[in-house]
Amino acid sequence: MRYRFSGLSQERIASLVEISNKASLNWDKAFIRVMEAYDKPLHDWWHSHQSLTSTELSPHVKMELDECQKALHILCYTKERACPVCDAPPKYVKKGKDRRITDYVCSGCGTSYNNLTGTPFTFLHRIDAWPKFLELMVNGYHDTTLQEHFDFDKSRTELWRRAFMKFLKQDWPVLAHWAVWMWSRRRVTPTSL
Ligand SMILES: [Zn+2]
Repeated sequence: MRYRFSGLSQERIASLVEISNKASLNWDKAFIRVMEAYDKPLHDWWHSHQSLTSTELSPHVKMELDECQKALHILCYTKERACPVCDAPPKYVKKGKDRRITDYVCSGCGTSYNNLTGTPFTFLHRIDAWPKFLELMVNGYHDTTLQEHFDFDKSRTELWRRAFMKFLKQDWPVLAHWAVWMWSRRRVTPTSL
């Protein structure tokens, strides 16, 4: 199954516009010819990306990934997170022991929380490896490559992928699409790091 940039597969697109999969392949060819005739730069971009000759991130996706990395860093290392329940500032703050994240007690409602409370990352460890995992996932690397790179077992890799995909889908939908799209392209040409 091939995914398009929208995150939808070829088959799904065919069913949405109510044509057969075979017809959608012909439509594909026709649209690509039109693109080539009327918008050459777009066509060249599309061709190099969809056809696996380039696995580079587009400049705007690179920028978005940079922004996302910054947001992830702030999420992990801020020392002044407001209470996730009542939004009051923290009364008591201490540095977490084992996971290098800050623990708080709320000045308003007394709730104990940390930087990751209520985020998809609550149960993940090895916080220092998160930026690399995010980068590799957006670049479409498969679980087998990630397992090798981080020395994880299968279930841990899946746990991490689920958490990061949830994070991306919440606030970074373009990166979520990109991750799935790149992943489907690498299925055809397996690459190692
Ligand atoms: Zn509170």
